[in-house]
Amino acid sequence: MNTYWIETPGGGLVVIDVQRDLVHAAQALAAVKAVGKPVRAILITHAHPDHYTGLGLFRQAFPGVPVYSSKATADAIRYDTYGANAGTQADAPDITPREFVAPGVTFDGDTTLKIDGLTIVARELGAGEAPATTAYYLPSTRELFTGDAILNRLHGPLREAHTGPWLGILDRIEAMYPNVTIVHPGHGASGPKEPMFDDERLYLRTCRAIAAEEIARGGFTDAAKAATIRRINARFPYTNPTGNKDIVSDSVDGLFREFSAPSFAPLR
Ligand SMILES: [Zn+2]
Repeated sequence: MNTYWIETPGGGLVVIDVQRDLVHAAQALAAVKAVGKPVRAILITHAHPDHYTGLGLFRQAFPGVPVYSSKATADAIRYDTYGANAGTQADAPDITPREFVAPGVTFDGDTTLKIDGLTIVARELGAGEAPATTAYYLPSTRELFTGDAILNRLHGPLREAHTGPWLGILDRIEAMYPNVTIVHPGHGASGPKEPMFDDERLYLRTCRAIAAEEIARGGFTDAAKAATIRRINARFPYTNPTGNKDIVSDSVDGLFREFSAPSFAPLR
């Protein structure tokens, strides 16, 4: 995933997201240290381990630095609500810290942060790619940090079964920030909002449509899942940006769960 650092008017840095394991976090930390400015704050976008596992390493390097996130994100990390900490430890014990650091400065809902002279608008977007996600926006330069609401032409993890709300999030942040200059996605390269927003919508809508077709044809069966996986891989020859071993297969499990929920209303 992407670690970003922003220079503040006060001569420091604000860091956004800190990598999935000790190896990647050490690389990001070296890059941040090479700037030669003190880190004034760390912001976390959402509670997926590829975005917060490096917090301990960063806190060691910059003792006392405040770590910000939404309350939902901090709670998910602190209490390991979704088992992500335990899962990462089981998958990669050699490069995973024993103790996870959770953000200590939390906000509940939308807020505006002032850090070392820098104004950052934090907007809570709710469930989508993750159980909760925060977009951070810099009014001074009109840059938007979307977390994993956008993965620039990479496979997205759809396993949380919220692709419908995720599409809604894309519409909402696009409407919130019509004049954004640069979008910084959770994974993949930064760039202008188009085609990035449309690419993400196309990915989500196409994956949903393929799953719906295969379910209509074969029901909620392993054969329908296998066909969906094959078609998504053929349609999007994207790489897997996450630590998930088989992201498309995980995603299709999620889509089938989402589509079999009693509350699900298919989009036409
Ligand atoms: Zn991610």
